Amino acid sequence: MSASRVLVLNSGSSSVKYQLLDMRDGSRLAVGLVERIGERTSRLAHAPLTGGEKRERLEAFADHGEALKAVAEELDRDGLGLDSPDLLAVGHRVVHGGTRFTEPTVVTDEVLDAIEELVPLAPLHNPANVTGIRTARELRPDLPQVAVFDTAFHSTMPEHAARYAIDKATADALDIRRYGFHGTSHAYVSRTAAELLGRPVEDVNVIVLHLGNGASASAVRGGVCEDTSMGLTPLEGLVMGTRSGDLDPAVLLHLARVGRKSADQIDELLNKKSGLVGLCGENDMREIRRRIDEGDAEAQLAFDVYIHRLKKYIGAYSAVLGRVDAVVFTAGVGENAAPVREAAVRGLEELGLAIDADLNAVRSDAPRLVSPEYARVAVAVVPTDEELEIARQVHALVRA
Ligand code: ADP
Repeated sequence: MSASRVLVLNSGSSSVKYQLLDMRDGSRLAVGLVERIGERTSRLAHAPLTGGEKRERLEAFADHGEALKAVAEELDRDGLGLDSPDLLAVGHRVVHGGTRFTEPTVVTDEVLDAIEELVPLAPLHNPANVTGIRTARELRPDLPQVAVFDTAFHSTMPEHAARYAIDKATADALDIRRYGFHGTSHAYVSRTAAELLGRPVEDVNVIVLHLGNGASASAVRGGVCEDTSMGLTPLEGLVMGTRSGDLDPAVLLHLARVGRKSADQIDELLNKKSGLVGLCGENDMREIRRRIDEGDAEAQLAFDVYIHRLKKYIGAYSAVLGRVDAVVFTAGVGENAAPVREAAVRGLEELGLAIDADLNAVRSDAPRLVSPEYARVAVAVVPTDEELEIARQVHALVRA
């Protein structure tokens, strides 16, 4: 039997999420998470899906190296270890691929150096991704390690969507352009939506709304991304859990000149203390809805700002695409928050959008339509699966 398993690693600054998938059928063999790496007590939660017991380890993992070694031990205990001949490759989610990486890429020393050179564009993410790759290479030097970039799906954006209207020489010197993020999710969801509509992906135009803690929208024509709401960094675009999304750039100047804030303070304010949290002190949509039900005006305003921005992007991307076949909701909020879907679509009947209240209220893990049959534009919910998409891309590349 040829090797068919792919280990997918998603390394964050103090965490690693992992899944082991069997690409003969896309099934999961094990899933897990290590969090609080570098703190006094880290936590490893491991779930074998082949019959064994769920396990938890509370100990100090000083760095990603120690954390991944512990993950390898846990996989070993289930007979799924990294030295198994069934393991084909490790796939790594890498946040920023810059303009160079537009496809999944087998990691070499030179590729790793290039990913490291992109750190200034993604200071919070790429260092952890690099550490994850280095550690996995040390654990199994002979195994292909493949980097899958969050920016890659958006690399097809035409220049007029990717360019900011600022001085071209300055922009080019500093690599300032719109890259877009959540690409694996937008790729997976737009393709799955076409399947749901029963049409070839090449014929279908969709607006994907990935609404998690981070949130982004994309306009996808025939499976190819034409525009997306995140830009140079994942700060642009929609209102998010803790990020502001779009702003008048002069707000930053005002914060610096009049508010006397440093670049780092502004970074922190816009990335960590803005969005829903900035508006109402809460970033979990469930809690915001609960507060709204109790008549909380702050929570209501935060919700309204969030929905207003979403509507603007649905309108903008309807104009970008000309013809829209589906608006697709995904990620934690998009998949679960029926009131968000209802409010985002309300009043957009002239754009061909409508929602069926009964269908919208159904809770399910399956891709599904929530619009009435008469609607010109389908409204769909498609649970995203970034790990499966990464594993598929890795499998396709390594087997080729
Ligand atoms: P991340 O960007 O961290 O991957 P997710 O896609 O997992 O985020 O989304 C997390 C968010 O999803 C939570 O912060 C919460 O706001 C929202 N969420 C999860 N479940 C529900 C629910 N049942 N109703 C409303 N919102 C939900």
